[in-house]
Amino acid sequence: MYIFDSHIDTLSRLMEVDQTLTDNQGHVDLAKLRKNGKGAQFFAAFVSPTFYHGKALHNTLEMLDLFWQWMEEYPEYLAFAGSGADIVQILNSGKMACLLAIEGGEALEGKLPNLRMFYRLGVRLLTLTWNHRNDLASGALEGNEGGGLSLFGQAVVDEMNKLGMLVDVSHLNEPGFWDVIRVSKSPVIASHSNARALCDHPRNLTDEQVRAVADKGGVIGVNFCPAFLAKNRRATIHEVVQQIEYLVKVGGIECVGIGSDFDGINQTPLGLEHYGKTAEIGAILGERGYSESDVAKIMGGNLLRLCQTVLD
Ligand SMILES: [Zn+2]
Repeated sequence: MYIFDSHIDTLSRLMEVDQTLTDNQGHVDLAKLRKNGKGAQFFAAFVSPTFYHGKALHNTLEMLDLFWQWMEEYPEYLAFAGSGADIVQILNSGKMACLLAIEGGEALEGKLPNLRMFYRLGVRLLTLTWNHRNDLASGALEGNEGGGLSLFGQAVVDEMNKLGMLVDVSHLNEPGFWDVIRVSKSPVIASHSNARALCDHPRNLTDEQVRAVADKGGVIGVNFCPAFLAKNRRATIHEVVQQIEYLVKVGGIECVGIGSDFDGINQTPLGLEHYGKTAEIGAILGERGYSESDVAKIMGGNLLRLCQTVLD
């Protein structure tokens, strides 16, 4: 079995703290990546609000450069994947398939040519917003009065459909989410979001949203952020498993994946302290009676299917 995680923030964290992939105090390093064995991983270049005004594109390019430096430094362990076929080939070689994502449409600085250049640099997923309003749409913390996709946001979704990129609805407010569902011709991803029915937070998805992602053939990566798992108490790996079971109940076995948010969260659930522990989820699901093939779908197979559908 392999693990495919749709969201970690290691690129932006290591840029910020000036530590390396082999030696850092975060949730993810080369040894922990390898501990999970072969696998696939979306590395998100998170555009921090610090860089929104005039520096978003520059800062994003620096993170993409860091990603490509890793591919060159550790070719025996890591390999770039730009398609579903690449992922399969890299998994078969026993390495980690590394995919590139950008979190925050601010990186485009209002220009479709920048989106196309990002694609050429290897980016295969764009989270349209972070928590705030930008020129594509409004983030979840703006509330629903912020409105949905702008005309530019619609043009971005159209272009992403044409290029073969994953449109990420995590962080969008509800009108933006529903506009993407309406506009996108391809399945979408919620790369790191949970079910609101179990934890009422604007970053989490309502049951209707879960069903809409599932009906479109998309996948929801379950987020390990304690604030999106449990209110007023310490979250554990069991809340993560509960989220998975709930999403399976509402959206079906095909729509659930892992989107840990490691290195983007300050605290972790008990039992999921770092990247090397993610496999424990599969073990617990097995103990709870999930078949081997269903566990494999949740731990990575569904995200691979989505990549094969959208990227190839
Ligand atoms: Zn995020």
